[in-house]
Amino acid sequence: MSLAGKTAVVTGSNSGIGLGVAHELARAGADVVLNSFTDRAEDHALAVEMATRHGVNVRYIKADMSRADECRALIEAAGACDILVNNAGIQHVAPVESFPPEKWDAIIAINLSSAFHTTAVALPMMRQAGWGRIVNIASAHGLTASPYKSAYVAAKHGIVGFTKTVALETAEEAITCNAICPGYVLTPLVEAQIPDQMAAHGMDRDTVVREVMLARQPSKEFATVEQLGGTAVFLCSAAAAQITGTTISVDGGWTAL
Ligand code: NAD
Repeated sequence: MSLAGKTAVVTGSNSGIGLGVAHELARAGADVVLNSFTDRAEDHALAVEMATRHGVNVRYIKADMSRADECRALIEAAGACDILVNNAGIQHVAPVESFPPEKWDAIIAINLSSAFHTTAVALPMMRQAGWGRIVNIASAHGLTASPYKSAYVAAKHGIVGFTKTVALETAEEAITCNAICPGYVLTPLVEAQIPDQMAAHGMDRDTVVREVMLARQPSKEFATVEQLGGTAVFLCSAAAAQITGTTISVDGGWTAL
């Protein structure tokens, strides 16, 4: 399928899942706007490399997704937004009673409220274009919970609810809104935790991955950023035109348990 002529904005896309999704959208022919809150030479270099690799236009736009005004300014600066992937996210792990309030606020702002602000500005552009796709990167934690992740679980359940509401508000238009719910994905962030876990548990890499990190993932394999990107491309395809207001789990069976 070709997404040529479409512009995709992917929040939080200078690493991990966002970068992987952006690559797959570019591979399918979409022009891409990359984003994070930094403004380093290497951020802009990612855009050049992606444009060269896939032969599409790619820009990097700095915007802090913890700030309402910058979320809205990102979409305005993009100028067009046919495909919006709300991916930016952070995590903090602590029991409720000692969970730092500023971490709660940051997680709700970046993982949940940013999607409200970007969507609010993108929807009129999609209506003008007569077509749109909103893909929210939620989590298995949008459907189930784990202890010590109260803010993250609340934000991810929240984005699943927001997804359904936007889908209903756009149901009679050529616009869809869905959430992808990944289980554990092998990103640089997750990869970096493996040596520490090996040391902490006195296990080899395979055992720590299988028994500790993927304890709740029945497939005992990480999902990959390419698989998530492929799922996002599918949601942008004609075959997915009647898929809206739902979640697609890419979690190796986690939520079937
Ligand atoms: P990551 O840390 O590699 O990527 C997070 C991205 O968000 C980065 O590009 C970072 O720069 C950006 N970001 C953080 N704060 C920001 C801010 N204030 N403004 C703009 N950008 C900001 O992590 P990831 O694993 O790729 O996570 C991406 C998304 O996928 C998150 O929403 C996360 O909750 C979700 N997710 C990840 C996993 C996993 O196992 N890795 C599983 C389920 C869901």
